[in-house]
Amino acid sequence: MPFVTQFKIVIYCASFVVSATGILFTLLNRRTDKLQNKLYLTLLIMVVCNSLSEIIADTATISSGVSHAAAVAVEVGHLSYHLVHSGIAPIFFLYVLSVCGANMSGKRKRYVAMFVPWIIVELFVMLNPVTKWVYYYDRNMEYHRNWALSMVYISSGLYVAMAIFMLMFLWKALNTKRRTALIYFFFIVLSGLCVQLFNYDLRAELLSEAVALLGVMIAIEIEDDRIDAGTGVYNRRALISDMNTFLVSGRQLYLLCVKITNTEIIKHATGSDSTDTLSKLVAEYMKTLVPRYQIYSINPDTFMLTLMENDETKAVWLAGMISERFERPWKIGDNEIPLKVLIMAADVPARIRTVDDALYMADSPVPKKLDKNILTGSDLDYLLRRAAVENAVTRGLDQHNFEVFYQPTYHVATRTLHGAEALIRLRDPELGNLFPDEFIPIAEQIGLIDDVDDYVLREVCKFLESGIPTEMGMECINVNLSMLQCMQPAFAEHIVDIVDKFNVDKHMINFEITESVAAGDYITLSRVVRLMKKQGFKFSMDDYGTGYSNMQSIFRLDFDIVKIDKSILWSAEKGQMGQIILDSSVRMIRQMRRKILVEGVETEHQLEMLKELGVDYAQGYLFSKPISKADFIDMLQKS
Ligand code: C2E
Ligand code: CA
Ligand code: CA
Repeated sequence: MPFVTQFKIVIYCASFVVSATGILFTLLNRRTDKLQNKLYLTLLIMVVCNSLSEIIADTATISSGVSHAAAVAVEVGHLSYHLVHSGIAPIFFLYVLSVCGANMSGKRKRYVAMFVPWIIVELFVMLNPVTKWVYYYDRNMEYHRNWALSMVYISSGLYVAMAIFMLMFLWKALNTKRRTALIYFFFIVLSGLCVQLFNYDLRAELLSEAVALLGVMIAIEIEDDRIDAGTGVYNRRALISDMNTFLVSGRQLYLLCVKITNTEIIKHATGSDSTDTLSKLVAEYMKTLVPRYQIYSINPDTFMLTLMENDETKAVWLAGMISERFERPWKIGDNEIPLKVLIMAADVPARIRTVDDALYMADSPVPKKLDKNILTGSDLDYLLRRAAVENAVTRGLDQHNFEVFYQPTYHVATRTLHGAEALIRLRDPELGNLFPDEFIPIAEQIGLIDDVDDYVLREVCKFLESGIPTEMGMECINVNLSMLQCMQPAFAEHIVDIVDKFNVDKHMINFEITESVAAGDYITLSRVVRLMKKQGFKFSMDDYGTGYSNMQSIFRLDFDIVKIDKSILWSAEKGQMGQIILDSSVRMIRQMRRKILVEGVETEHQLEMLKELGVDYAQGYLFSKPISKADFIDMLQKS
């Protein structure tokens, strides 16, 4: 056997082994369901077939002079080689498209047009046994290239160029690993092609394709770092990378966020934290609805599904299916666990414009007041608003956009000034004026409430240090404390630290704690209150009457003032039942020897009513709305 032929056969065997290895591990990994995986597998199979046909053709060439069968084998080998090989570049082009997240389901006509060069080349190859335009054999059955073979190269070059163009166009859609893998592919394949083009005896092309595909397998097809070990579906990292790909490539889709909202029940029911078991169970269920590669496990209680059509009806239908499943309990061990779910179906890119928006949907706390468990369309505006407010709070602390307003409180009997409540405002350059009801809960959730409350306390201390409040006869300024803040272990020390930096009388500061906090953790709170009262601070219970509460605990805490919520006052005006509640609240608080303040006084009639009941202090729009410090000083000086 001539050395050149032996050499060729060895090279083709190598290509065969390398690409067959690729197939083996792709199948072992069972990654063959996604279109991208299918295209990759097709490429490997094509290289395997090509290697085989070349091995057959080259082996047969040696004996083709003697046997007719061998001559046929040579013909068949070369013909099938060309038929398959012309398809590698177009299929690779499709593979690049799918890695870049391009939508290949719609726009069929355009795709068909794209494959015209491939079809023409295949026709040339199929007709070759008759025309001999692509290749022919001489008298010794030696293979020679003919003019039409350049058509094959031109067509392949065209697809490679289109793939490179796509890659450049959607460069940002890919992470570094994927970019590197695709560039590596082009580099190795083009090198192999050039070598073979200039010296036809060095058949480097097929081997370079096999090796390059193996590189692609390592970097793109093996997805261990994208898979969530517990559930076997994609993880958070995969969502970030895929959402980026979809957004950059302008892909339209629906993102379904499935959030289990009562996972704490699992611990309660099973006595152990079986959240992971539950996650697995739910992931398995999801797989019955959509392919596994469209499911992402973000947290043990949060899943995201990518629905690749921008079809709201379908998204809502699927959300309905999932919601229905959650009406039945889930079986963990011997326990039947009822789970609650919230499903959000968001239009990408209409509502979800960035990767952060998507993560936001997954991570943001579930809105409290919800009358439905499937949110879609404008229901989700709160999400975007929330994200914007979150930014405004962060920005506000950096750029000093917060401001403390003051609302005066008055003695009911004499209508003279008693004090003021400090209420925070946020003036954001983008969102305008924001009210605390909106941004305080958000500041709490993103862990910035301490900074906000510290700012208010410092501002109040500055105001007190100026001496104006005492000059004006104010007895105290009230400062609101967030629930989270006063439960922290070093809270009392922290507050004293801040106040001690100013020259102020601690009796002038009155902290307001809401009723719900007081009822929450009596032991911690009583320690805090005791410690701080020893230092001279005063305390008020805020929002009395808004929640259920453990009266006994609350009144064992040493509050100076109880602030009755405005809703109690307003309902007292409306009917007898409300009147009874207000009367008995006032009587009870007085018997416990606490001072009483009623909020939300807007009319003379209300004030008269409070006077008759013997309420100590009043606060409300009748006297003044909360106003800026400058306006507040102005108002005091005028009266
Ligand atoms: P709150 O402590 O119950 O404050 C009283 C709220 O009632 C204030 O709303 C005030 O503007 C409003 N108000 C007072 N009088 C009347 C009235 O006659 N009629 C009506 N309709 N409303 C009246 P604001 O300033 O929007 O504050 C809302 C809540 O935000 C506060 O409720 C408080 O819980 C919280 N907050 C305000 N400032 C701070 C702060 O510096 N730190 C913390 N942690 N929370 C704050
Ligand atoms: Ca308050
Ligand atoms: Ca209040």
